[in-house]
Amino acid sequence: NKRTKIKTLLAGEFVGQDVTVMGWVRTFRNNQFIALNDGSTNNNIQVVVALGMLDDATLKRITTGASLKITGEVVASLGKGQKVEIQAKSLEVLGDSDAEKYPLQPKKHSLEFLREIAHLRFRTNTFGAVFRIRHSLAFAVHQFFNERGFVYLHTPIITSSDAEGAGEMFRVTTLPMEGAPRKEDGGIDFGEDFFGKSTNLTVSGQLEGELGAMAFSDIYTFGPTFRAENSNTTRHLAEFWMIEPEMAFYDIEDNMNLAEEFIQYLIRYAMKHNAEDLEFLDQRLAEEEKQKPQAERSEMGLLEKLRFVVDNQFERITYTEAIDILLDSPAYKKKKFKYEVKWGIDMQSEHERYLVEKHFKKPVIVTGYPAAIKAFYMRMNEDGKTVAAMDILAPGIGEIVGGSQREERLDKLEQRMKDMHIPTEEMSWYLDTRRFGTVPHAGFGLGFERMVQFVTGMGNIRDVIPFARTPKNCEF
Ligand code: ATP
Ligand code: MG
Ligand code: MG
Ligand code: MG
Repeated sequence: NKRTKIKTLLAGEFVGQDVTVMGWVRTFRNNQFIALNDGSTNNNIQVVVALGMLDDATLKRITTGASLKITGEVVASLGKGQKVEIQAKSLEVLGDSDAEKYPLQPKKHSLEFLREIAHLRFRTNTFGAVFRIRHSLAFAVHQFFNERGFVYLHTPIITSSDAEGAGEMFRVTTLPMEGAPRKEDGGIDFGEDFFGKSTNLTVSGQLEGELGAMAFSDIYTFGPTFRAENSNTTRHLAEFWMIEPEMAFYDIEDNMNLAEEFIQYLIRYAMKHNAEDLEFLDQRLAEEEKQKPQAERSEMGLLEKLRFVVDNQFERITYTEAIDILLDSPAYKKKKFKYEVKWGIDMQSEHERYLVEKHFKKPVIVTGYPAAIKAFYMRMNEDGKTVAAMDILAPGIGEIVGGSQREERLDKLEQRMKDMHIPTEEMSWYLDTRRFGTVPHAGFGLGFERMVQFVTGMGNIRDVIPFARTPKNCEF
């Protein structure tokens, strides 16, 4: 007998037919009603076991968390909130679950608790919804770029370039297997020497991505990125996924337009394909908001916010304007900011969120950052002190995109690298793009988890990646 997924079953016309479903028990009531879930949707299928159909020993094995295979007839349901249910004809317990030990009891668990049992949290409604949406968004990323003729370029995970100057890097070394002969005994013990130079896990695929853009015009990368962030924040992970498009013949305006269109496209995609899961998260968030004091509640619900974001253009301001707004804000005057505000600072999350949540009440694109706080490859503006950078700031998070028009003028780029003590000889491969047919070009990086946070409304980045890596946390 073929298995029918519960999502398919609930959406289709199966009444009167026999089907087989497999899944995990969420609840079992009155020795009669099983709520079964297989992860295809948060909705369970109710299976009715006729009295006397199963012996006592089997009934005892139907516990929360146990896995079952059930065949039965689909019938119209009289119960509230469900169109159909299954009248069981045969039932097989595939795997038992000790009810005393199973950590996921049929009640609402806190996100903190679920983080401690991250290996089982996929089986909850909240994480079911979050990770189905994450899946959809990843799919939409490829669809967006594919529709626009971008080439998906796989940039390396092990690199020897230390270009971003962002977080700390993870070094790559080799270790001999335990008990294996060391190098001096004829073994393969390369240590840091495998590549003949020091290497690290990539912090960004951009520099390599630029090489691709200089041949294919439009490329994007979408892969894991590693930063030994020592910051315990709700928006930093040591391992995260980043989407980095890089486009030849683009200036900073084109870059902003593409990034805005991209973010709206991803949200629209999720609204279309994950309506049910978004509805669930919207409700969940609404309940959470009710627990907060009136003044701290957000003005919009999740779905309302997403609809607003796709229907309205993002605000665009310069860095200088942003600083002026902050200096002029009630928050600043009442000393509400923890970090200092003045021209030249790298804005903190609290500043970014103020601009988005309190001042403009919509996503904001900030351009023209001070050169001193940005990476070497960004194009210098005419004023000689700001660069053609752009960050996109989102509600609840702050920065979700960092991008720029790149410095395509060889002399200016070399000068900037010298000023910043970046060895130009080692980066000769990069400078070749400026030596041979250089063109204006631009690109950006969107942190995938921050995007998932934005769409799902989850407050902590640890809750939107299946296996979070943060300081002191790498369980499996
Ligand atoms: P932040 O200011 O939050 O530390 P950043 O400016 O260091 O971010 P960029 O180097 O601009 O980050 O990277 C591009 C994008 O990658 C960011 O806009 C963000 O969405 C994402 N990102 C950066 N660091 C992290 C991290 N540690 N965990 C998750 N996403 C990240
Ligand atoms: Mg950073
Ligand atoms: Mg930043
Ligand atoms: Mg940035």
